[in-house]
Amino acid sequence: MKTGRLTDFSKLCIHTITTKPWKIEEAAENFSKAGVKGISVWRETLVGRDIMKTGELLRSNGLEIVSLVRGGFFPSISSGKRKKVIEDNRNAIEEAASLGCPMLVLVCGADPAQSLEISRSQIKEGIRILLPYAEEYNIKLAIEPLHPMYADTRSAISTLSQANDLAEYFNSPLVGVAVDVYHLWWDPDLEYQIKRCGANGHLFAFHICDWLSPTEDMLNDRGLMGEGCIPVGKIRSWVEKAGFTGFHEVEIFSTKHWTEDQYQFLKNIKKAYLENS
Ligand code: ZN
Repeated sequence: MKTGRLTDFSKLCIHTITTKPWKIEEAAENFSKAGVKGISVWRETLVGRDIMKTGELLRSNGLEIVSLVRGGFFPSISSGKRKKVIEDNRNAIEEAASLGCPMLVLVCGADPAQSLEISRSQIKEGIRILLPYAEEYNIKLAIEPLHPMYADTRSAISTLSQANDLAEYFNSPLVGVAVDVYHLWWDPDLEYQIKRCGANGHLFAFHICDWLSPTEDMLNDRGLMGEGCIPVGKIRSWVEKAGFTGFHEVEIFSTKHWTEDQYQFLKNIKKAYLENS
Protein backbone atom coordinates (compact mmCIF):
# COMPACT_ATOMS: atom_id res chain seq x y z
CA MET A 1 0.00 0.00 0.00
CA LYS A 2 1.21 3.52 -0.83
CA THR A 3 1.57 5.78 2.13
CA GLY A 4 1.53 9.55 2.19
CA ARG A 5 4.98 10.75 3.17
CA LEU A 6 5.27 12.72 6.37
CA THR A 7 6.53 16.18 5.49
CA ASP A 8 6.66 18.02 8.80
CA PHE A 9 6.86 17.53 12.55
CA SER A 10 3.39 18.77 13.47
CA LYS A 11 2.40 15.27 14.68
CA LEU A 12 5.75 14.27 16.14
CA CYS A 13 5.66 13.37 19.83
CA ILE A 14 8.55 11.84 21.75
CA HIS A 15 8.36 9.82 24.96
CA THR A 16 10.71 11.00 27.69
CA ILE A 17 12.01 7.41 27.97
CA THR A 18 13.31 7.68 24.39
CA THR A 19 15.93 10.19 25.51
CA LYS A 20 16.23 8.66 28.96
CA PRO A 21 19.57 10.32 29.87
CA TRP A 22 17.84 13.74 29.75
CA LYS A 23 15.93 15.13 32.71
CA ILE A 24 12.42 16.23 31.79
CA GLU A 25 13.51 19.90 31.80
CA GLU A 26 16.26 19.11 29.29
CA ALA A 27 13.93 17.03 27.16
CA ALA A 28 11.40 19.89 27.11
CA GLU A 29 13.96 22.44 26.00
CA ASN A 30 15.63 20.21 23.44
CA PHE A 31 12.42 18.81 21.95
CA SER A 32 11.06 22.32 21.66
CA LYS A 33 14.19 23.65 19.94
CA ALA A 34 14.04 20.70 17.54
CA GLY A 35 10.46 21.52 16.53
CA VAL A 36 8.91 18.49 18.21
CA LYS A 37 5.28 19.27 19.07
CA GLY A 38 4.28 16.62 21.59
CA ILE A 39 5.72 14.95 24.67
CA SER A 40 4.61 11.80 26.49
CA VAL A 41 5.80 11.81 30.05
CA TRP A 42 7.08 8.79 31.95
CA ARG A 43 6.16 9.01 35.60
CA GLU A 44 9.68 8.50 36.92
CA THR A 45 10.73 11.79 35.32
CA LEU A 46 8.30 13.59 37.66
CA VAL A 47 9.74 12.26 40.90
CA GLY A 48 10.63 15.07 43.31
CA ARG A 49 9.02 17.74 41.14
CA ASP A 50 6.02 20.00 41.43
CA ILE A 51 3.88 18.27 38.81
CA MET A 52 1.66 21.26 38.00
CA LYS A 53 4.72 23.46 37.46
CA THR A 54 6.30 20.79 35.29
CA GLY A 55 3.14 20.75 33.17
CA GLU A 56 3.37 24.54 32.82
CA LEU A 57 7.03 24.25 31.84
CA LEU A 58 6.23 21.74 29.10
CA ARG A 59 3.43 23.91 27.71
CA SER A 60 5.57 27.04 27.88
CA ASN A 61 8.03 25.20 25.62
CA GLY A 62 5.22 24.80 23.08
CA LEU A 63 4.77 21.10 23.80
CA GLU A 64 1.43 19.35 23.94
CA ILE A 65 1.36 16.76 26.73
CA VAL A 66 0.04 13.67 24.97
CA SER A 67 0.07 10.95 27.59
CA LEU A 68 1.35 9.92 30.98
CA VAL A 69 3.12 6.56 31.05
CA ARG A 70 2.23 4.38 32.78
CA GLY A 71 -0.44 2.82 34.94
CA GLY A 72 -1.74 -0.74 34.93
CA PHE A 73 -0.01 -3.86 36.24
CA PHE A 74 -3.31 -4.97 37.76
CA PRO A 75 -2.86 -8.76 38.07
CA SER A 76 -1.26 -10.42 41.04
CA ILE A 77 -1.73 -13.65 42.89
CA SER A 78 -1.70 -11.50 46.05
CA SER A 79 -4.87 -9.56 46.83
CA GLY A 80 -2.79 -7.15 48.91
CA LYS A 81 -0.65 -6.30 45.90
CA ARG A 82 -3.74 -5.87 43.73
CA LYS A 83 -5.14 -3.36 46.21
CA LYS A 84 -1.85 -1.50 46.37
CA VAL A 85 -1.64 -1.24 42.62
CA ILE A 86 -5.10 0.31 42.45
CA GLU A 87 -3.81 3.00 44.79
CA ASP A 88 -0.84 3.55 42.52
CA ASN A 89 -3.16 3.86 39.51
CA ARG A 90 -5.28 6.40 41.35
CA ASN A 91 -2.10 8.36 42.02
CA ALA A 92 -1.24 8.15 38.33
CA ILE A 93 -4.64 9.58 37.39
CA GLU A 94 -4.11 12.45 39.81
CA GLU A 95 -0.62 13.03 38.40
CA ALA A 96 -2.05 13.17 34.87
CA ALA A 97 -4.63 15.72 36.00
CA SER A 98 -1.99 17.84 37.76
CA LEU A 99 0.23 17.71 34.71
CA GLY A 100 -2.63 18.74 32.44
CA CYS A 101 -2.35 15.53 30.51
CA PRO A 102 -5.52 13.95 29.10
CA MET A 103 -4.50 10.30 29.00
CA LEU A 104 -2.90 7.56 31.06
CA VAL A 105 -1.37 4.59 29.24
CA LEU A 106 -2.09 1.22 30.84
CA VAL A 107 0.47 -1.54 30.62
CA CYS A 108 -1.98 -4.05 31.97
CA GLY A 109 0.36 -6.59 33.60
CA ALA A 110 0.36 -10.35 34.24
CA ASP A 111 1.50 -12.68 36.98
CA PRO A 112 3.27 -15.88 35.90
CA ALA A 113 2.08 -17.56 39.11
CA GLN A 114 -1.48 -17.67 37.78
CA SER A 115 -3.21 -18.33 34.45
CA LEU A 116 -3.53 -15.69 31.76
CA GLU A 117 -7.32 -16.00 32.08
CA ILE A 118 -7.17 -15.04 35.75
CA SER A 119 -4.76 -12.20 34.98
CA ARG A 120 -7.17 -10.95 32.30
CA SER A 121 -10.11 -11.03 34.68
CA GLN A 122 -8.06 -9.04 37.21
CA ILE A 123 -7.21 -6.49 34.51
CA LYS A 124 -10.90 -6.10 33.77
CA GLU A 125 -11.64 -5.71 37.47
CA GLY A 126 -8.82 -3.18 37.88
CA ILE A 127 -10.14 -0.99 35.06
CA ARG A 128 -13.68 -1.33 36.44
CA ILE A 129 -12.53 -0.02 39.83
CA LEU A 130 -10.45 2.74 38.25
CA LEU A 131 -12.98 4.05 35.75
CA PRO A 132 -15.08 6.19 38.13
CA TYR A 133 -11.85 7.81 39.27
CA ALA A 134 -10.82 8.46 35.68
CA GLU A 135 -14.26 9.98 35.10
CA GLU A 136 -13.88 12.26 38.11
CA TYR A 137 -10.65 13.67 36.67
CA ASN A 138 -11.63 13.27 33.01
CA ILE A 139 -8.55 11.22 32.17
CA LYS A 140 -8.60 8.73 29.30
CA LEU A 141 -7.29 5.23 29.94
CA ALA A 142 -5.42 3.71 26.98
CA ILE A 143 -5.05 -0.07 27.12
CA GLU A 144 -1.78 -0.96 25.41
CA PRO A 145 -1.55 -4.55 24.17
CA LEU A 146 2.04 -5.80 24.43
CA HIS A 147 3.90 -8.33 22.29
CA PRO A 148 3.24 -11.91 23.49
CA MET A 149 6.89 -12.25 24.59
CA TYR A 150 5.79 -10.13 27.57
CA ALA A 151 2.74 -12.25 28.49
CA ASP A 152 4.51 -13.67 31.57
CA THR A 153 4.80 -10.48 33.59
CA ARG A 154 4.00 -7.35 31.61
CA SER A 155 0.73 -7.93 29.80
CA ALA A 156 -1.86 -10.67 29.54
CA ILE A 157 -3.35 -8.50 26.78
CA SER A 158 -1.25 -9.45 23.75
CA THR A 159 -3.36 -8.62 20.71
CA LEU A 160 -5.29 -5.63 19.49
CA SER A 161 -8.33 -7.90 19.27
CA GLN A 162 -8.16 -8.52 23.04
CA ALA A 163 -7.69 -4.81 23.74
CA ASN A 164 -10.65 -4.00 21.49
CA ASP A 165 -12.79 -6.56 23.30
CA LEU A 166 -11.91 -4.96 26.62
CA ALA A 167 -12.55 -1.40 25.43
CA GLU A 168 -15.87 -2.48 23.91
CA TYR A 169 -16.84 -4.21 27.15
CA PHE A 170 -16.48 -0.91 29.03
CA ASN A 171 -18.08 1.08 26.25
CA SER A 172 -16.86 4.36 27.76
CA PRO A 173 -15.47 7.43 25.99
CA LEU A 174 -12.62 7.25 28.53
CA VAL A 175 -11.51 3.67 27.81
CA GLY A 176 -9.60 3.05 24.59
CA VAL A 177 -6.45 1.57 23.13
CA ALA A 178 -2.84 2.53 22.42
CA VAL A 179 -1.58 0.92 19.20
CA ASP A 180 2.19 0.36 19.35
CA VAL A 181 3.79 -0.97 16.18
CA TYR A 182 6.48 -2.77 18.21
CA HIS A 183 3.91 -4.96 19.91
CA LEU A 184 1.47 -5.52 17.07
CA TRP A 185 3.29 -5.48 13.70
CA TRP A 186 3.33 -9.30 13.40
CA ASP A 187 -0.44 -9.75 13.78
CA PRO A 188 -2.10 -10.94 10.52
CA ASP A 189 -5.34 -9.43 11.81
CA LEU A 190 -3.83 -6.00 12.47
CA GLU A 191 -5.36 -3.99 9.64
CA TYR A 192 -8.85 -5.22 10.47
CA GLN A 193 -8.41 -4.70 14.22
CA ILE A 194 -7.16 -1.13 13.70
CA LYS A 195 -10.24 -0.47 11.57
CA ARG A 196 -12.47 -1.93 14.30
CA CYS A 197 -10.70 0.14 16.98
CA GLY A 198 -11.15 3.37 15.05
CA ALA A 199 -14.77 2.65 14.13
CA ASN A 200 -15.62 2.34 17.83
CA GLY A 201 -13.82 5.55 18.77
CA HIS A 202 -11.25 3.60 20.77
CA LEU A 203 -8.05 4.48 18.89
CA PHE A 204 -6.45 6.77 21.47
CA ALA A 205 -2.72 6.60 20.73
CA PHE A 206 -0.15 5.49 18.15
CA HIS A 207 3.39 4.53 19.23
CA ILE A 208 6.26 4.00 16.79
CA CYS A 209 9.78 2.53 16.74
CA ASP A 210 11.25 -0.53 15.00
CA TRP A 211 11.91 -4.23 15.61
CA LEU A 212 15.60 -5.03 15.28
CA SER A 213 16.63 -8.36 13.82
CA PRO A 214 18.16 -9.99 15.71
CA THR A 215 16.74 -8.43 18.85
CA GLU A 216 19.42 -8.77 21.51
CA ASP A 217 17.43 -7.75 24.56
CA MET A 218 13.72 -8.36 25.10
CA LEU A 219 13.16 -4.95 26.65
CA ASN A 220 15.87 -2.46 25.79
CA ASP A 221 16.78 -3.14 22.17
CA ARG A 222 14.18 -1.27 20.18
CA GLY A 223 15.24 0.41 16.98
CA LEU A 224 14.72 3.73 15.33
CA MET A 225 12.15 3.63 12.54
CA GLY A 226 13.86 2.16 9.47
CA GLU A 227 16.46 0.19 11.43
CA GLY A 228 14.34 -2.94 11.58
CA CYS A 229 11.52 -4.81 9.86
CA ILE A 230 8.29 -3.09 10.91
CA PRO A 231 6.33 -1.47 8.05
CA VAL A 232 5.72 1.65 10.14
CA GLY A 233 4.39 3.75 7.25
CA LYS A 234 1.96 1.03 6.20
CA ILE A 235 0.62 0.66 9.73
CA ARG A 236 0.35 4.46 10.02
CA SER A 237 -1.74 4.47 6.84
CA TRP A 238 -4.14 1.95 8.45
CA VAL A 239 -4.35 4.03 11.61
CA GLU A 240 -5.06 7.17 9.60
CA LYS A 241 -7.67 5.36 7.51
CA ALA A 242 -9.34 4.36 10.76
CA GLY A 243 -9.76 8.06 11.53
CA PHE A 244 -6.81 8.66 13.85
CA THR A 245 -5.51 12.22 13.69
CA GLY A 246 -3.41 12.31 16.85
CA PHE A 247 0.32 12.33 17.47
CA HIS A 248 2.85 9.77 16.27
CA GLU A 249 4.68 8.95 19.49
CA VAL A 250 8.29 7.84 19.22
CA GLU A 251 8.86 5.40 22.07
CA ILE A 252 12.26 3.72 22.00
CA PHE A 253 13.90 1.79 24.84
CA SER A 254 17.44 1.21 23.71
CA THR A 255 20.57 0.74 25.77
CA LYS A 256 22.50 1.39 22.56
CA HIS A 257 20.77 4.66 21.66
CA TRP A 258 20.84 5.87 25.28
CA THR A 259 24.63 5.72 25.24
CA GLU A 260 24.82 7.93 22.13
CA ASP A 261 24.99 11.72 22.16
CA GLN A 262 21.30 12.50 22.73
CA TYR A 263 21.43 15.65 20.57
CA GLN A 264 22.59 13.56 17.62
CA PHE A 265 20.03 10.88 18.49
CA LEU A 266 17.26 13.50 18.41
CA LYS A 267 18.43 14.58 14.95
CA ASN A 268 18.36 10.94 13.87
CA ILE A 269 14.84 10.52 15.25
CA LYS A 270 13.63 13.47 13.16
CA LYS A 271 15.30 12.08 10.03
CA ALA A 272 13.89 8.58 10.63
CA TYR A 273 10.46 10.08 11.30
CA LEU A 274 10.34 11.78 7.90
CA GLU A 275 12.03 9.02 5.93
CA ASN A 276 10.80 5.81 7.53
CA SER A 277 7.52 6.46 9.29
ZN1 ZN B 1 4.04 1.88 23.53
